[in-house]
Amino acid sequence: MQTTDNTLTGLIFNIQKFSINDGPGIRSTIFFAGCPLSCRWCSNPESQNRNRDAALACGDPKLTGRSWTIEEVLAEAEKDRCFYEESGGGITLSGGEVLQQHDFAAALLKEAHKRGLHCAAETTGFAAHEVFSEFIRNIDLLLFDMKHCAREIHREKTGVYNDVILENMRYAVAQKVPIIARIPVIPGFNANKKAAAGMAALLKDMGITEVHLLPFHQFGEKKYEQLGIPYEMADVKQLHPENLQAYLDIFLKEGLEASFR
Ligand code: SF4
Repeated sequence: MQTTDNTLTGLIFNIQKFSINDGPGIRSTIFFAGCPLSCRWCSNPESQNRNRDAALACGDPKLTGRSWTIEEVLAEAEKDRCFYEESGGGITLSGGEVLQQHDFAAALLKEAHKRGLHCAAETTGFAAHEVFSEFIRNIDLLLFDMKHCAREIHREKTGVYNDVILENMRYAVAQKVPIIARIPVIPGFNANKKAAAGMAALLKDMGITEVHLLPFHQFGEKKYEQLGIPYEMADVKQLHPENLQAYLDIFLKEGLEASFR
């Protein structure tokens, strides 16, 4: 018997199978189109709202995404149920920013939970409190992006202030949602000791214990070419964990369980 609401659709640009870096076990990662941020290092520039016209102009469905119903998404995800069960995996909602399509995402999570799937989401937390609080009701794990504690620097490189993000992060902790903080380590932005110390202290103060550091890479460069938009990080060198030990140590010294991903 079909119980899902198929009048709701979500714009999704990829469902990546066998993901092993988006939560525990083997997972299907569902990439939601649309993001209100404009991070300069973004490896999915097609998902940014400001690049939507450029993505449509390319006409490549891998860049524009397509509408999916909840039933379609879960049918695709459930093909790998045996792998989730074997590995302790499940589904992860990612993007873009999943909260931009919060009605669809919340309904999808509710149905996925009903079907016994472990549900994680990677999010910036950039949404109104009411939206965020509804969204986390059916979340088993939040992979919560933290980019910078300094609000002006945050706005300069991502296009938005971090106030609502930090409020939502505190709220999720208070609701006892398991959280792993994810920090992209970006040269010229937060790849310095001062930024690391600020973020480590803030995470500790909030009661978040685990943090994943994601060294800058240029995986998205080709997409900028395809979209015909400038890539501001073209001349910035990739970072490697072996050169970031001092950075990692700052988090470890705060007693956080920190590692590179
Ligand atoms: S939040 Fe993520 S998807 Fe959105 S612009 Fe930043 S890096 Fe890209």
